[in-house]
Amino acid sequence: MRIWFVLACACTLLALPCIAAPLLWLEGDDVSEFQDGKTRNDLILAAKYLQRFYSSRTDSSGRMKRSRSFFSSKLKDMQSFFKLNQTGSLDPETLAVMKTPRCGVPDVKDYVHNQGNRWRKTEISYRVGTYTSDLPTSTVDALIASALDVWARASPLKFFRSNSQDADIMVEFATKDHGDSFPFDGPRGTLAHAYDPGEGIGGDVHFDDDEFWTAGSNGFSLYSVAAHEFGHALGLRHSQNPQSLMYPTYQRQRTQNLLSSEDIININALYGSTMPNPFYPRLGWSYSFIPWYTGSYFPMGLKDKCNPDQTFDSVTTLGEAILFFKGRYLWIKHNNKSDIKEGPITNFMPNIDSRIDAAYWVPQRSTAFLFSGSNYWTVKGSQGKGRHKNISSLGFPARVKLIDAAVHIYKTPYTLFFTQHVYWRYNENQKVMEDSYPRNISDDFPGIKTPISAAMHRNGFLHFFLGPEVYKYDTELKKVIEVKKANSWLGC
Ligand code: ZN
Ligand code: CA
Repeated sequence: MRIWFVLACACTLLALPCIAAPLLWLEGDDVSEFQDGKTRNDLILAAKYLQRFYSSRTDSSGRMKRSRSFFSSKLKDMQSFFKLNQTGSLDPETLAVMKTPRCGVPDVKDYVHNQGNRWRKTEISYRVGTYTSDLPTSTVDALIASALDVWARASPLKFFRSNSQDADIMVEFATKDHGDSFPFDGPRGTLAHAYDPGEGIGGDVHFDDDEFWTAGSNGFSLYSVAAHEFGHALGLRHSQNPQSLMYPTYQRQRTQNLLSSEDIININALYGSTMPNPFYPRLGWSYSFIPWYTGSYFPMGLKDKCNPDQTFDSVTTLGEAILFFKGRYLWIKHNNKSDIKEGPITNFMPNIDSRIDAAYWVPQRSTAFLFSGSNYWTVKGSQGKGRHKNISSLGFPARVKLIDAAVHIYKTPYTLFFTQHVYWRYNENQKVMEDSYPRNISDDFPGIKTPISAAMHRNGFLHFFLGPEVYKYDTELKKVIEVKKANSWLGC
C-alpha cells in the first residue's frame, strides 16, 4: 500500500510566491506504524498540520519525495515546540494539540532577522474592511480598537482608524479561499492569520468567518484572537510559553491584561518601551531595555565589594540588571556589561534614604518593591510611588516587623517572602497573601539555612544569599546545586 498526500502549498506567511506543492508520501510499512489505531484522517490531519506550521521555505521548494523520517522529524519539531514528549510518533497528546483551534501563522519562520520585521514608524493606521455578521459592527470596531490598545499600552505605538484601502493594518473577515493563497478551513482549525509588517498585504489580519466570533464566552473571543494577530502584524513570532499571548493555540482562559512579561519585553525590543521617565533617570534606564550608561558617577571603591566576607541586605533583578543593596549603598550589575555602577541608594532613588532589607521586581508591572523594616515602597518610573506603605497592607500579621528576603518567581503570579524560619506566598494577580502560609523554609527548601539575607530568581533558578555565600537552588530537584561567593556577580 502506498499513500500519497498531495498537500496545498504551505509556504510560510511571508509574502512569498507559492512554490510547487510538495508531496508527502508514506510508504506502506510506515503508515501501519503510524496508524496504530488511529484513523487515516488523523494521519492526513497531522501531515497537513506539519506541512502548514512546521515547514520552512527550503522544505517547500526542495526534495519532492518525503519519507517517514521527514514526517517523524517534523513531528518532533512540533512536539518540541509544544514541550510534548518528542516521540516522533502521533501519540494522543500530540494529536490533541493538533486538533486545538489555533492561529494560521506557522510556528517556524524563515526570518532573516531573528526579531521579525517591524514598522519603521510609531503611528500605524488600520481599517476594518469587511465585518462579521456574528457581532454588531460597532462591537467589532470596539473589540478591534481594544485589541490594538493592548499593544499601544505596552509600547510607544499609536493606532488610528483610516478610511483608506492603503491602511497599514487591513482587517478582514473572510471564509475559505479569500485571495491570498492561504484559504481558511471552515469551522475550527485555523481561526485567523496575519502578515508581518510591510507594504501591501504586510500587516494585514484575516479572520475566518466560518468561526463564531463573540464578545462574550460562547464562541471564539474576537478580542483575544485579534490581540494575538496584531502581535504578528507588529512583527512578533509565536512563543512556546503558554502564558504568552503569542502562544499559537487558542486559550479560553485569559486574564484581562493579555500580555505576559515576555510579550512586553518582545514588543519593547522592537519598538522601545512606553515609560516616558526611565526607571532611574539619572542612569537613563528603562525597565526592559536598559542602554548601559558608560562612565561612572561615583568614585570607585567607596565600599569594598570584593571583601570575602561581603554580605548583602537584599538583591533583586531589574530588567537586564541585578541590584545589590547593603546599608545605604547600592551596586548595579548589568547582565551584558562588565562595569559595575555603584553609589548611595539616594543617588539612584532620591526619596529612599534607608537600608533595604528585601527587594523584588515584577516584570509584568514593571514595578519594583523595596522593603525597609515594616515599610515598603512601590517604585515605578523615576521615584517611589507616593509614600511608603506598611507591610500589613500585603497581609502580614502585626507580629512580622521585618522581611529578610523577597523574590518574585518569573512567569508565575507568586512572590515569596522570607521571615526568619518561615516563608509566605503572595499572589500578585489577586493581591492576597495565600491562606496556607507561612510554611517552614526547611520543609520546602531543604539545604537552605535561615535567616536568609537575600533572594532572587534568575534564569529559572532561585538564588539564596546566606551570609557571604549564595546558594543556587533547583526548585524541581529541590536541592542546592551550586554554592558561590555572594559577590561573585560583582566581578570578585
Ligand atoms: Zn499566531
Ligand atoms: Ca477555521
